[in-house]
Amino acid sequence: MRPTIARVALPVPLDKQFDYLIPSHLFPIIGGRVSVPFGRQTLVGIVTEFAQESEFSIEQLKSVKEVLDSQPVWPDKLYSLLKWCSQFYQFPLGDTLANAMPSALRKGKPADFASCKEWQMTPSGSNQMMQGFGRAFKQAQVMNLLTSGAVSHSSLLEEDVSIATLKSLQEKGWIEVSEQKPQFKAWPKQIEADVEKPKLNQEQAIAIASVNSSKGFGCYLLEGVTGSGKTEVYLNLIKPVLEQGKQALVLVPEIGLTPQTINRFKKRFNVPVEVIHSGLNDTERLNAWLSARDKVAGIVIGTRSALLTPFADLGIIIVDEEHDSSYKQQDSLRYHARDVAVMRANQEQIPIVLGSATPALETLHNALTGKYHHLHLTERAGVAVPTRNRVLDVKGLYLESGLSAPLIADMRRHLTEGNQVLLFLNRRGFSPALMCHECGWIADCQRCDAYYTFHQYSNEIRCHHCGSQRPVIHQCQSCGSTQLVTVGVGTEQLEKQLAELFPEYKTIRIDRDSTRRKGSLESALTSIRRGEYQILIGTQMLAKGHHFPDVTLVALLDVDGSLYSSDFRASERLAQLFIQVAGRAGRASKPGEVILQTHHPEHSLLQDLLQRDYHHFALTALAERKLAMLPPYTYLTLFRAEANQSQMVEDFLRQVRHTLEAHPLFDQHCMVLGPTPAPLAKRAGKFRWQLLLQAEARSVMQKLLMSAKPAISMLPLASKVRWTLDIEPQDLS
Ligand code: ADP
Ligand code: ZN
Ligand code: ZN
Repeated sequence: MRPTIARVALPVPLDKQFDYLIPSHLFPIIGGRVSVPFGRQTLVGIVTEFAQESEFSIEQLKSVKEVLDSQPVWPDKLYSLLKWCSQFYQFPLGDTLANAMPSALRKGKPADFASCKEWQMTPSGSNQMMQGFGRAFKQAQVMNLLTSGAVSHSSLLEEDVSIATLKSLQEKGWIEVSEQKPQFKAWPKQIEADVEKPKLNQEQAIAIASVNSSKGFGCYLLEGVTGSGKTEVYLNLIKPVLEQGKQALVLVPEIGLTPQTINRFKKRFNVPVEVIHSGLNDTERLNAWLSARDKVAGIVIGTRSALLTPFADLGIIIVDEEHDSSYKQQDSLRYHARDVAVMRANQEQIPIVLGSATPALETLHNALTGKYHHLHLTERAGVAVPTRNRVLDVKGLYLESGLSAPLIADMRRHLTEGNQVLLFLNRRGFSPALMCHECGWIADCQRCDAYYTFHQYSNEIRCHHCGSQRPVIHQCQSCGSTQLVTVGVGTEQLEKQLAELFPEYKTIRIDRDSTRRKGSLESALTSIRRGEYQILIGTQMLAKGHHFPDVTLVALLDVDGSLYSSDFRASERLAQLFIQVAGRAGRASKPGEVILQTHHPEHSLLQDLLQRDYHHFALTALAERKLAMLPPYTYLTLFRAEANQSQMVEDFLRQVRHTLEAHPLFDQHCMVLGPTPAPLAKRAGKFRWQLLLQAEARSVMQKLLMSAKPAISMLPLASKVRWTLDIEPQDLS
């Protein structure tokens, strides 16, 4: 019998689906999109089920407006994975599915390749190339970008090319534009390009053989420092996969998606490589997505969201820098791309490789208990000498914008020898606070429980939590004094101080403020590599993915905050950062030195890390976690809630606590902590509280949440406060 009712998952924050009548001329399919009336809007949703009956009477039901797909949006396995995600992360199915679609599909556009504008050089343009472009630097930039073939309009804009420049080049007849659809081409017989490849060392060969021997699913932790040849292992693993006609997915952290990385994959193989990142426009994203689904692409490289790309025939998943915190989405569907990737590999029955120099404690635990296979790369190709590491006790020392005298002396020594120095300070702006010298009043954000950061460069004070900003103030708002002083040191102030201390050397600052413009990070990195700057100042942006062979001294200026943080993961993050920063420096002929300024040189974490290595630190940290009953030995869920009134938020979470504790599935191995005010107790005018649920087993946690959530949603206050669930949170703020 022809079904009369379609159950549709819609992108609305409700844990339910909606019934619509199917008009006789329409033929929706399960897993395909339909557009339906919803209130006064029309929404695009996914048909999840057919039914003959509804809990509503037929007269109350509205009808499906339009059927948008003749085949399901996702292959079966990915569709089940998305349903699993929705359950595991306690996020409404409709929202989850919408999250996983490229926005063009979310908006109801057809699931077909769309054509994109692309620019290419004309013959007369090539002629002009020989003669050069004189002082027309912008035009020269465009022409250089087009030398190796056509480039899409939007990627030119990403490179900061202006439309005016394109127009004027077009008028001169040097470039032309066309509309192109991605072309289907069978992959060539010879998959691997004719490029020079290093001869694998023994550890690499063992790693590759182990993964290749895996039948079906297998999860491999590939532990090796930067430069130990992990990427080379990935390339060798991908080769046979492509040769069998299967595809590969490579996930990289947000900051790791550099042109160098992408080029290594593109140069190595003769198959199309799709790159998926947040900078793509709707059309490009849809094309990349379809290209993977229809097997145009052999390899997809991308950041977190690339995990949810459909593949015709996926053969391997690689997660590089698996410990990186950008793999966890911090809003809406709060999934961890690494964890879901393992789930996906399991479902597809394929191998997955997690690579890192500093594995997350969760991952290491899985490797130590035998759940994952553990592979090691211990030799660092190229750089033979490890860095010399030293703790510098700054207790009682005068700090000049965060720099101690011994450090300044060390810097001078390295600079005089013609080397570069990298200073690491994870706080942007000039100073984290502006204080009245007379009465102690501190300029604070009215909307947050936080101080304003002073940005001297733009002459503003800004709140780093709600983003509000205002011109710098010159008078105390409490006593009227004009004696305002800065408290603490940010990267801007450090930059200024260095210009005074080392006027003969050039300093460059790399943080979110200095690299706002697209392409500016790349060009800064290039000038650093060319040696145009001797002193580099960076926040954690500079810690990842970039190698600076001429840097011989790295200093971490202020790590004490991480040693005594309320977030139990802070020390793990510091250890990872330390190893990464150290990995930036030096080469065989120029061994590096790493200095850590601290008031707590005796701290056991620092001792473990410096005297021994990350692995020993990790074992100690795991033992501490076990004693404290923290992940990976237990599982956490964080309830966050906020509203305009503090009391209401606290009351709501108290009721949540009672609901959980009274639940039959809540056993002696479960525990609730809180409610407590969030570390940032007020943000953008809202009061914030949180509640932590802890369970010894993942399955207990899941069943408990699934069964208790409807009751929690029914609490009278549930509709008055904004609340969210964060399953296995990475960040407790
Ligand atoms: P990782 O990904 O661990 O940082 P890479 O794979 O990028 O390491 O390797 C670092 C450098 O060493 C690269 O230039 C790479 O070409 C080179 N390399 C990798 N494996 C070998 C090897 N077995 N012999 C010589 N050079 C190698
Ligand atoms: Zn604020
Ligand atoms: Zn004052």
